[in-house]
Amino acid sequence: MSAIVVSGKELANKIRTDLKEKVSCFIKEKNVIPHLVVILVGDNPASISYVTGKQKGCEQTNMKSTLIKLPIETTEKELIKEVEKLNNDTSVHGILVQLPLPSHINESTIINTISVEKDVDGFSPINVGKMVLNEECFLPCTPAGIIRLIKETKIDITGKHAVVIGRSNIVGKPVSQLLLRENATVTVCHSRTNNLSEFTKSADILIAAIGKPKFVTADMIKPGAVVIDVGVNRINNKLCGDVDYEAALDVAGYITPVPGGVGPMTITMLLENTLEACRRLVIK
Ligand code: NAP
Repeated sequence: MSAIVVSGKELANKIRTDLKEKVSCFIKEKNVIPHLVVILVGDNPASISYVTGKQKGCEQTNMKSTLIKLPIETTEKELIKEVEKLNNDTSVHGILVQLPLPSHINESTIINTISVEKDVDGFSPINVGKMVLNEECFLPCTPAGIIRLIKETKIDITGKHAVVIGRSNIVGKPVSQLLLRENATVTVCHSRTNNLSEFTKSADILIAAIGKPKFVTADMIKPGAVVIDVGVNRINNKLCGDVDYEAALDVAGYITPVPGGVGPMTITMLLENTLEACRRLVIK
């Protein structure tokens, strides 16, 4: 058996083409261009590459993007001031502070400073709370992208056993909530889980968000399962996921590749959130 590869790249391109059309209609109708501002503190190479991807995505979909580059010595107070300025700027609809921040800046303090209406990353406690309560909010981008990838398989999530490996605030916890919302029976595993493979082997849907290359081996996967690989790791400078992809192809029913799986979907969800933020702010 060879798994069907679920291409996030292809799905993201499809969504971006539709989004470009929606943005054009919106601009014609409201005479406002959705505008995302990204703040980058320091020059972490991975962060620069993520930020570049976000800017490209905006360009591709006819949205405006502005990059504010701040030096690594920027203080927490200065960053808060910068975010507050953007909160009050009516020409800005989405604000994203690229993480991680230098260790002298408290990330939660900065995320809490971003206006909830412009928090297109969906990381603020109010957005997270609303997500848990099933209220209208900006869904965090990676988890939202994961759900879209699962739906692309046309497998009905309802009643399925979904196992999430990882409980981070940006992936594991929110994706578990979204799976619950889709009526899956959800198990969340982490570094203290005993007998991990007992759980993974019963997963109809397996999400690997660990950050360890090829951690999930073929014998941990239930035959026919949907496997979503969130991990971004490098072996000898080559990108790889948290799943032993080649071996998993023989067992899984569906699998996302790395690169070209979850990554492109994350940025695409950010672009959707930016248009939505603009729509809500303009209507208000
Ligand atoms: P994280 O904050 O480091 O969390 C990793 C999680 O994995 C933790 O909950 C940890 O458990 C768990 N874990 C670690 N070792 C384990 C083990 N041996 N057995 C079971 N669980 C274990 O990472 P993250 O931010 O969620 O990111 C995870 C991966 O996804 C990374 O590779 C990251 O680069 C990637 N990522 C990709 C995208 C994308 O768009 N493609 C977006 C975000 C993240 P504890 O909580 O017990 O420590």
